[in-house]
Amino acid sequence: MADDMEYLAFAAGLVDEFSAQGKRVLPEGTPFLVRGATHSDAGIRMLYDVEPGVLVGGKHGPPAEAVLELLARTYRVRSRRVDRMTWTVPALTDAWWEAAATHFPILRGGGMEFDAGWGDLCIAMADWLAEAAPELEPFRQTKEKFGELRLYYGPGEGLAQQIVDSAELLSTRICEVCGAPGKLGSVRDWYKTTCEAHR
Ligand SMILES: [Zn+2]
Repeated sequence: MADDMEYLAFAAGLVDEFSAQGKRVLPEGTPFLVRGATHSDAGIRMLYDVEPGVLVGGKHGPPAEAVLELLARTYRVRSRRVDRMTWTVPALTDAWWEAAATHFPILRGGGMEFDAGWGDLCIAMADWLAEAAPELEPFRQTKEKFGELRLYYGPGEGLAQQIVDSAELLSTRICEVCGAPGKLGSVRDWYKTTCEAHR
């Protein structure tokens, strides 16, 4: 019972964080309502409504519904890793990629030249791509550039491209070190997306 209460508090915190992250990434004034969350063995699933078709990050950006779906999936992945002693989500270690690449062939070719904080985002992306575009070739290169995730891949279009574009966009809001909400900043011309604690 105590565990249930703590789990609910953890879930409520995650819902708040998802809501804040969503508002931060969407163009100002985009209709977006977080209704709560459900729980299953797959983790915590956000329930929300967002105005479809609104482009995020400029006129070539992915639509809001793709960005928010990937963000929701990222939180579901994070929720599965909660430490039930501290009720926090620990930072991934660099070993995340070996485990993820075993499940998701698309992650095998890339090199993953970035810190582990983007691991949950990449796992959520790979999981969605496996459903939406199982024919996609493994990424040719995956790295950090100017504080953003960059994913290079073969011909892709439609939803697959929206998913990849959404991952790159969301990487500018997620700490590259620990996966907490972050922002893009620069230290002596070196760009990196981090949270307060890792600035
Ligand atoms: Zn951090």
